Amino acid sequence: MLKENDVKKSSLLNDIYSVLFSEEEIDKIVCRIANEITEAFKEKVLKNNEKLVIIAILNGSFQFVSDLVKKIDLPLQVEFMFASSYGNATKSSGEVEIKVGKNADVLDDPDAHLVIIEDIVDSGNTLSKILKNLKGKNNKSVSLCALFDKPDRRETAVDLQFVGARIPDEFIVGYGLDYCEKYRNLPYVGILKREIYE
Ligand code: 5GP
Ligand code: MG
Repeated sequence: MLKENDVKKSSLLNDIYSVLFSEEEIDKIVCRIANEITEAFKEKVLKNNEKLVIIAILNGSFQFVSDLVKKIDLPLQVEFMFASSYGNATKSSGEVEIKVGKNADVLDDPDAHLVIIEDIVDSGNTLSKILKNLKGKNNKSVSLCALFDKPDRRETAVDLQFVGARIPDEFIVGYGLDYCEKYRNLPYVGILKREIYE
């Protein structure tokens, strides 16, 4: 499955077992999601004057959200939230820590449609904790968007409105996704060699 010809050689490629999505493939996926979000909210934003607020869950979604907002053809606001559950492991610890960025009042804006952007959904614990935190807030709607979904590993059910690709139960890195804070800068997404973390 290694598609080395599709991707630029890089010093980090040695740590990658197999490239799952090349830069070009990711670009197609991001365009498709951006179109879906544009379609879903265009009437609400352009006709009803409601707000579209994209909330990036950092650090993992930084590349995705940056490319995604450039392709959404609507006025929007971008905000950031921090969630961490992995520490330096490849399995979620189950404990999720959430910090809201500086404009936390937007979560409670009665004109705002919030779209929460995750890099990947695994156990579902992070998104369900975020949703729990948003319960009782007075916004117009909350929807969930994830670039990647590992449905086989779900512990808590979450309803994803926008999904890039479903992937098998493998630990992936690149395009924002890290292992021990490394590999986030890869332009492609690959399965990390097991010997790196085992
Ligand atoms: P969940 O709470 O759904 O188990 O985990 C979500 C978070 O775990 C993601 O936002 C991501 O930071 C991390 N995660 C889950 N699967 C992977 C993976 O395959 N690779 C990397 N790098 N992070 C992952
Ligand atoms: Mg994350």
